[in-house]
Amino acid sequence: MLGIKQNDMEAHKGAGSLGPAPSIETALPGPLAREYIERDTRHCSPAYTRDYPLVVKRAAGSVVEDVDGNRFLDFAAGIAVCATGHCHPKVVAAIEEQARSLIHICGSDFYIPAMTDLMERLANLAPGDHKQHVYLSNSGTEAVEAAMKLARYHTKRKWLIGFHGAFHGRTMGSLALTCSKSTQQERFGPVVPMTAHVPYGDVNAIESQLFRYKMNPDEVAAIFVEALQGEGGYVVPDPEFLPRLRALCDKHHILLVCDEIQSGIGRTGKWFAFQHFGIEPDMILLAKGLASGMPLGAVVARGDVMNWAPGAHASTFGGNPVACAAALATLDLVESTYLDNTATLGERLKRSLGELAAKHKVIVNPRGLGLMCAVDVISKRTGKPDAKTRGKILQAAFQRGLILLPCGEVGIRFCPPLCMNEAMLDVGLKLFDELLTASV
Ligand code: PLP
Repeated sequence: MLGIKQNDMEAHKGAGSLGPAPSIETALPGPLAREYIERDTRHCSPAYTRDYPLVVKRAAGSVVEDVDGNRFLDFAAGIAVCATGHCHPKVVAAIEEQARSLIHICGSDFYIPAMTDLMERLANLAPGDHKQHVYLSNSGTEAVEAAMKLARYHTKRKWLIGFHGAFHGRTMGSLALTCSKSTQQERFGPVVPMTAHVPYGDVNAIESQLFRYKMNPDEVAAIFVEALQGEGGYVVPDPEFLPRLRALCDKHHILLVCDEIQSGIGRTGKWFAFQHFGIEPDMILLAKGLASGMPLGAVVARGDVMNWAPGAHASTFGGNPVACAAALATLDLVESTYLDNTATLGERLKRSLGELAAKHKVIVNPRGLGLMCAVDVISKRTGKPDAKTRGKILQAAFQRGLILLPCGEVGIRFCPPLCMNEAMLDVGLKLFDELLTASV
């Protein structure tokens, strides 16, 4: 089976209940998958960017099965969402139990025990001595929207600053802070005004350019930053970037908002990526991994910052009890097991990507924290960034049963479920090694 030794297969058999992966039995896409793709294409919004034709039927742990019974090893976790792996039995049990007793009542109008438990839990997770308040949304972009509104409300200032390469979402507010790809902006403007961007990592540019030419610092409500930039290319900043940004915010009474939507909930081996850099933000934004795949987002803000009045902001579904129950189970699992696993496995992943980059000319710049790592693809011939070859590699990985996703201009990201084990990681990396040799 594609050069994978049987003892490698045995080593990760127990991790998912679907059987060993990868296991590719049909040409891809298989016959049933082709049918779905044909029907889907007739009606689906054409704006999605599906890199390869994977039609998923079910998944467990780090294994995904398609509609034709082919099994894939998942190095993408639904874009860093399935933190505890697919359908973790404890998450499923929490969802089932909650769904049997209460699916919805609206947390804006009434009190919900699961919501109270989760807000308390998130408030206690935020580092520092401040009391924290929590707003729950249904997605990452809604958490960003809420944070933008809260920053303006609290400070009574208008300007919001972000960074080149940032991804904060696609609704009109968050899109104003997103600065990742021009296609994400094209024809949608004007978006929310009074937002500005500087290169990621460049604190000087805020002072020497924005404060000089665009706005006074006392007009700035907040700076939004990803402590490890996600969609922009899994960019790990210099160690002094975030401390310097914190100092600048303190100097001018600007709120520092850390968008941990992709990097939070243990993904980098710590609860939040900013903890690698020794700072504390004024607001933390969460979504993706928070509820292991149930739609849920959160703004965790210092109590004195979240001072908006009743009616200022709310959501019908935000804090949905089923999503909250999934989040509570997720936090239990991350705390008891997966945080440590991510830190240890992340070291192994980064080391292996370093070895692969030394072996294969086509991949460079191995980087990352925990299980949020990436490499860039260059042309073997010219040494320049090569998006076409990146596409070829993603296709070849799919054909061999390995789910990978792109990031940035030419990045390939490695963000498996936090429950992945060493043997599965090694199987996937070996496949990656083989396909680089065979297909590039
Ligand atoms: N912020 C970051 C850092 C993200 O990575 C994303 C999504 O990729 C978002 C915000 C938007 O989240 P959502 O897609 O749930 O709206």
